[in-house]
Amino acid sequence: MEKKNLDWANLGFAYQKTDKRFVANYTKASGKWDDGALTDDDKIVMSECAGVLQYSQSVFEGLKAYTTKDGHIVCFRPDLNAQRMYDSAKRLEMPPFPVDRFVQAVKDVVKADDAWVPPYGTGATLYIRPYMFGISPVIGVKPADDYQFRILTTPVGPYFKGGAKPIYVRVSDYDRAAPHGTGNIKAGLNYAMSLHAIVKAHQEGFAENIYLDAATRTKVEETGGANILFVDRDGKLVVPKSDSILPSITRRSLVYVAEHYLGLTVDERPVYWKEVLDNDFVECGLCGTAAVISPIGKINDHGKDIEFESGMEKMGPVMTKLRETLLGIQEGEIEAPEGWICHIE
Ligand SMILES: *Cc1c(COP(=O)(O)O)cnc(C)c1O
Repeated sequence: MEKKNLDWANLGFAYQKTDKRFVANYTKASGKWDDGALTDDDKIVMSECAGVLQYSQSVFEGLKAYTTKDGHIVCFRPDLNAQRMYDSAKRLEMPPFPVDRFVQAVKDVVKADDAWVPPYGTGATLYIRPYMFGISPVIGVKPADDYQFRILTTPVGPYFKGGAKPIYVRVSDYDRAAPHGTGNIKAGLNYAMSLHAIVKAHQEGFAENIYLDAATRTKVEETGGANILFVDRDGKLVVPKSDSILPSITRRSLVYVAEHYLGLTVDERPVYWKEVLDNDFVECGLCGTAAVISPIGKINDHGKDIEFESGMEKMGPVMTKLRETLLGIQEGEIEAPEGWICHIE
């Protein structure tokens, strides 16, 4: 396989069409998903009245394939993405795509697009986007009859170019997820409603919005697309817990790394905004597939700044250790727990 001639280290985070994608279809008439296939065709033709277009019936996932130091193409815990998408689909009354078939399809599409997997050492990865949506026409409010599941890939650049600089974020006056709503599933609808808030935050000089719990606005939830982690004054990793937070695979992996590799105490519990205001935490970070951990240096609450002791210059020591350990596991330099690294080539 000859790699594509791309400037890997300088890729941004933008869609670029690759050679192959995976497509499978479900029909109510057959009651099952077909075998699916890889295709060159990046276009989707559907009814003007498709369920996804009218009532936003769609769910998605995001993971990455990358090259390890010893030259293997791998991805990280795709079984957890498969299970999460299964759960998301059920919540939106969509026929879930079988977990084992999801993992196989990820492997097949990455193998077919292996020329697009960035070489080791560039910091770039091949982003993998599985998604599914209601494709048949729906006008009365009900689930679609037929669905399409697809996996596209696109090469993306290193998340941090020239070091992980802490970001400045704010507490949002908007809500992300209602109690008993859809905050715990990965659905486009959760993102559509966050766009206005993030555009405004950017205009006002903030990198992200931190959302509080919608019911009481006293507890920290997450940002639009990443979970939040804190380190308290005893060096404990404090992880907000709530039924309306998206169960980040990076967060769950970091909790395991903290406990089993770094010997840290982890406290998964409701975290009150007041604790942040009281300066109970010395480090803070966002976690997700793209950045692993992105440090937060300062949070703005309606004009008042709360700066963490780790500051605006560099990532704090605990977040750094966590990030380096998980990256080491992902890149094959540190032995991974059983089943975390999925070999593709
Ligand atoms: C995808 C996502 C995350 C991060 O999840 P990972 O599995 O770690 O990539 C966090 N919050 C929200 C709202 C998300 O959609």
